[in-house]
Amino acid sequence: MKYLIANWKMNSVDINVWEQEFVNLVSSQNNFPKSDEVRLIVCLNLYDYTVFSEKIKNSKNEIFNKISLFTQDVSQYDEGAFTGQISSKFLKKVGVEGSIIGHSELRENGDTENIVFEKGFRLNEQGLSNIFCIGENLEILENNKKKPFLLNQLQTFCKDNISPGLLAYEPIWAIGTGKEADSENIASAVSIILDFFENKKIDCPILYGGSVSKSNIEEIISISGIDGCLVGNSSLDGEQFAIIASKIKS
Ligand code: PEP
Repeated sequence: MKYLIANWKMNSVDINVWEQEFVNLVSSQNNFPKSDEVRLIVCLNLYDYTVFSEKIKNSKNEIFNKISLFTQDVSQYDEGAFTGQISSKFLKKVGVEGSIIGHSELRENGDTENIVFEKGFRLNEQGLSNIFCIGENLEILENNKKKPFLLNQLQTFCKDNISPGLLAYEPIWAIGTGKEADSENIASAVSIILDFFENKKIDCPILYGGSVSKSNIEEIISISGIDGCLVGNSSLDGEQFAIIASKIKS
């Protein structure tokens, strides 16, 4: 099984148009991967959830029917006076399947390793899944500190029965920059993560995120140990996202 995740961030996406673009592309291809070959997840704002989930339910396209909906963040708290935050209880009540946690854009705004762990803990309490993001910045990469940095992120998260549902390796210098990480860099991160998982007996798909597009997806997905991708900019257009999905196969 491969995985392809759309992260819409705080962009306005016309869901009617997105669905049409996606379905048209899928219908135009004879050998679009089946739903048991690629799992598609869209991480949206809760505001868009009802419209998108209705579309999924009513669509006549079998691939579109199987899209899972996640959010992009969750509160680290259970409930209480936390203005503007959304708890895992609310996510569960609405019907969302899980959330991204640890995205670098939230880490830049104050999410520490411990906060990311607490967010994972809250999701777990509600039986929801997580997409756990890790990745180094350019300074860490250039100072050869990538391995200890990634290991610290993994160690702080994987404790007390909490582990990633899906792990996304997203080097910060490759997100939204149009400059994807080179295969060597991705492969070295995969090897660090796989060793860690093996030691901890964790079985979790590893995804890459950072400027993935229809032009580089085949190269990225061919890297050994990579089970899928997390896509930001190129997921805002239903056709682009479907083209990327069409190039991913088990
Ligand atoms: C992301 O949002 O996690 C991401 C990888 O974005 P982009 O594909 O635009 O680099």
